[in-house]
Amino acid sequence: MNRIVRLFFHSMAVGFLAGCLPSPMQSSVGPVPTVQSVVPQPAFRPTPPVAVQNPWKPDAAPRNWRHIVLHHTASSAGSVESIHEAHIARGWDGIGYHFLIGNGNGMGDGEIQSTYRWREQVHGAHAKSPNNEYNEHGIGICLIGNFEETTPSDAQMASVKRLVGVLKYEYQLTDAQVVAHRDVKATACPGKNFPIGEISRSSVFPVLAGQFGTYFTEQPTAFQIVTVERSNLR
Ligand SMILES: [Zn+2]
Repeated sequence: MNRIVRLFFHSMAVGFLAGCLPSPMQSSVGPVPTVQSVVPQPAFRPTPPVAVQNPWKPDAAPRNWRHIVLHHTASSAGSVESIHEAHIARGWDGIGYHFLIGNGNGMGDGEIQSTYRWREQVHGAHAKSPNNEYNEHGIGICLIGNFEETTPSDAQMASVKRLVGVLKYEYQLTDAQVVAHRDVKATACPGKNFPIGEISRSSVFPVLAGQFGTYFTEQPTAFQIVTVERSNLR
């Protein structure tokens, strides 16, 4: 039985890498299939280049990031597309954040999407301050939800802590450089129930985070980031 379970997870991984859904576990009666009859033995393939494995990795040279700023949408639902539309309507040049984390309404619960601002390493439009320090040098992460009224879901907490942990490691940021929007502007964002302290202390094991992006693909079914490209927005 252990062997079948292992095969199942192996086929999930192969299916993910091939860009298709995994096959359901076989339930037919009969002899336990051998490795050869269930999964064709692939020829040895070297690991593809990181750029292919990590489509969310920035295309541009890294910006001089000095902060991570956390936000909420103050709404019960949202997606990259809906927030992009709302920010365009305000006269901005598109969605102001670099990352969004869904709550199951408009995006998957705990799903992370990066935006073109991240891909292109351009400044944010999410945390205005007198010298614009936090828009110029702050990575904007927004969680869907209103945390004046509720708390982030368990899946959102797991995702935001992993994302913040990787970004801190990658840009050598301290706990103090991870801030809530309210820390830099007179606003309630991201809500009184948002656990900024717990999130700012997030860290990941350095070996896992050592190569930007590969950390995510080691557990593709558990943690995946999709980039919504500028061309897919109106
Ligand atoms: Zn905010």
